[in-house]
Amino acid sequence: MPKKPLSNLRYQRQAETSASVDLSPDSTNLTQEEEVLFTSLRAQSWDDFAGQETVKKSLKIAISAAKQRHESLDHTLFYGPPGLGKTTLSHLMAGELGVNLKITSGTALAKTGDLAAILTNLEPGDILFVDEIHRLPKAVEETLYPAMEDFALDIVIGKGPSARTVRLDLPKFTLVGATTRFGLLTGPFRDRFGLIHRLEFYDPQGLSQILQKAAAKLTITIDKAAALAIATRSRGTPRIALKLLKRVRDYAQMANSAEITAKFVNQALDLLAIDTLGLDENDRRFLTLLVTKHDGGPVGLSTIAATVREDPGTIEEVIEPYLIQVGFLRRTNQGRVVTKAAKTHLGL
Ligand code: ADP
Repeated sequence: MPKKPLSNLRYQRQAETSASVDLSPDSTNLTQEEEVLFTSLRAQSWDDFAGQETVKKSLKIAISAAKQRHESLDHTLFYGPPGLGKTTLSHLMAGELGVNLKITSGTALAKTGDLAAILTNLEPGDILFVDEIHRLPKAVEETLYPAMEDFALDIVIGKGPSARTVRLDLPKFTLVGATTRFGLLTGPFRDRFGLIHRLEFYDPQGLSQILQKAAAKLTITIDKAAALAIATRSRGTPRIALKLLKRVRDYAQMANSAEITAKFVNQALDLLAIDTLGLDENDRRFLTLLVTKHDGGPVGLSTIAATVREDPGTIEEVIEPYLIQVGFLRRTNQGRVVTKAAKTHLGL
């Protein structure tokens, strides 16, 4: 039987147990119900947005200064794994500045004309949020350069020898870019962002706070130990924590319990094969294959991609960051290495 690509397992996993959960923090894999859930739970104020203190502090200062000068905010770039709050921060920034937020993505802006249409419709001060900004086609990226720097669009009219360039003035807007692949952005593009922030994984206490606030909004009763138990198994990612909260709520409801306790959390997450560190079957399979097929490394990304039948980008941006964070994987010049701690955790 051909081996299933890891992505299929990850995104459409049918666990051998009766339950299954899509643990991908990737926003493109949300069900409609989850979309509604996340929108309803989106932090409405800076106080609601837990953690990322340095980022929040720097943003608040930049926003106050821009407001005082009656200028648009500097272009801002957020990078880091999916589900850590990049989109939420851009909502908070727009709210604080009292401007409109227009959301699009690097894949949606396929042609320069798409970008021109959006830019010319912005009002002064507005924020244009471009998710997955590393996916912008080169031509669109280059059209953005004068737009970011001089608030102008250079449009070519006509063809051949009679072609001429017309400069169109744009309102002074703020571009907020989000990416999971900082390394894929070109130097000239990065240099055009005045503020660049990396979002970090959350610690269990921070996630636990987020879960308790979400539970209150959803009128779920959850004790502190239960919130912490979900938090420790959520890979440091709010989006995963919220998804797990939902799964555990279902489990408690089926058990006729009005309150979520640590016992329910552990039972529900064991059923979903999510271990005490938040690793799921796919993470374990990924590490196990590296150990059994490549002696634990060092092994190059393209070889890993072929072994686990996964796209190298997904390995780098979705699978690896957390494994590196918990000390189970190291990136070295020679390739990836599975650590002793990982082998002990997996019992290999
Ligand atoms: P990203 O854009 O980085 O993929 P999102 O901003 O879409 O992540 O966040 C995913 C979900 O997690 C949203 O429902 C959001 O409200 C919640 N969330 C993310 N970060 C925080 C935080 N620091 N505090 C509270 N909720 C958060």
